[in-house]
Amino acid sequence: MSYLQEVLEEVKKRNPGEIEFHQAVEEVLISLAPVIEKHPEYKNIALIERFVEPERVVMFRVPWLDDQGKVHVNRGFRVQFNSAIGPYKGGLRFHPSVYLGIIKFLGFEQILKNSLTGLPIGGGKGGSDFDPKGKTDTEVMKFCQSFMNELYRHIGQDLDVPAGDIGVGAREVGYLFGQYKKIKNQHEAGVLTGKGLAYGGSLARKEATGFGLIYFVREMLAAHGMDYKDKTVVISGAGNVAIYACQKAQEYGAKVIAMCDSSGYILDEEGIKLDTVKQLKEVERKRIKEYVNIHTNAKYFEGQQGIWTIPCDIALPCATQNDIQLENAKKLVENRVKAIGEGANMPCTNEAVEYFLENNVLLAPAKAANAGGVATSALEMSQNSMRLHWSFEEVNEKLDHIMVNIFKASQSAAKEYGMPGNYVAGANIAGFLKVADAMMSQGIV
Ligand code: NDP
Repeated sequence: MSYLQEVLEEVKKRNPGEIEFHQAVEEVLISLAPVIEKHPEYKNIALIERFVEPERVVMFRVPWLDDQGKVHVNRGFRVQFNSAIGPYKGGLRFHPSVYLGIIKFLGFEQILKNSLTGLPIGGGKGGSDFDPKGKTDTEVMKFCQSFMNELYRHIGQDLDVPAGDIGVGAREVGYLFGQYKKIKNQHEAGVLTGKGLAYGGSLARKEATGFGLIYFVREMLAAHGMDYKDKTVVISGAGNVAIYACQKAQEYGAKVIAMCDSSGYILDEEGIKLDTVKQLKEVERKRIKEYVNIHTNAKYFEGQQGIWTIPCDIALPCATQNDIQLENAKKLVENRVKAIGEGANMPCTNEAVEYFLENNVLLAPAKAANAGGVATSALEMSQNSMRLHWSFEEVNEKLDHIMVNIFKASQSAAKEYGMPGNYVAGANIAGFLKVADAMMSQGIV
């Protein structure tokens, strides 16, 4: 058994049942084989063993009272995975499917993603199995306050800086920040990102992940002689990432024809009217199926998986992990898809990724392609430290520049390690080398 296989087996043994974490580690370790060949010294200092083990895991009880006075108990998590290149940084996910394996996979991927941004941020992630859907504002606020009553001990602007993710947007970040400020008696703006503009948030943070995805895919298409003009696009999700990916793709002349939420998908052959989606999802917090009551030419289909049977040039999975499985990948290839841009984290299974690569479909991997969100969070931290505000254009320009650089780093690492055009391996290698270098320099810690 090779060194990397041994480490993978050990990860599976030591983290039983955490299947998403196993999957994320496996995908990365496969890419690192040529790196280990070139750097046998990593084995002597157990660098990979340390890389796959979080520096710290915090799990805690989150009790809260609903509007009827009933007590609920949720579970909170924060995984501080790797601080070799900077303070831990990564979002909080509130979704009933959250358990330790999900938070570990997200935290692990975050290390490489944050490294790729070129900014000084380490990797972490957190969240809870709390479901904000169907809760009143007061209930969400009470939950957030209780969550922060424990989390505040473990975070800080130079220690660990959480942000949003699924189920955590500006509303939740606001409640979390308010409680942190109350407990600490300090306006420590840099402790959370994704804040409202009135209290230290950054312009373009809301748009950053979706826009960044479209910038990365633009570079990838250009490297292969293509662009967005008149391309048909299918996007899964109708949340923060999906909405702004749709907006930027439309600005570049693509035709987005389908989007979804976890209940079902809409197909609008004339092109999605994004203002309607924003009104339904961002303002009214309604289901996507309401779209067809407003645009009667569009169709709604129950169930989300059917979205991948729609023929398209570019598929952008922006909802959740393992959204595109092998059979979806086969259908997309049969329908002549040209490129996949991963807006969500780990939205394609490892088998689906392999199938796309074997069939010469361009694949923009999540760690690189959705890094625009965390990169702009780091720009928010910079503005907080300097106590100033950059314009939307300034932040957007920096974001674009960062995404171009991430693409170039992934492209050249893939080439250097003998896998030109494989941006999955390229991103893993480029992200890893910087972290490994920092870990080497800091001794056995
Ligand atoms: P949101 O909560 O804003 O939106 C998530 C969207 O995906 C919703 O439309 C939701 O539908 C849908 N969704 C969630 N679970 C499922 C499911 N099981 N099947 C189908 N659809 C589902 O989250 P974000 O847009 O912020 O995050 C989306 C993805 O992007 C996640 O993987 C996240 O980790 C990743 N990401 C987010 C970043 C950010 O800055 N926000 C940064 C980098 C990555 P419903 O409302 O029905 O649940």
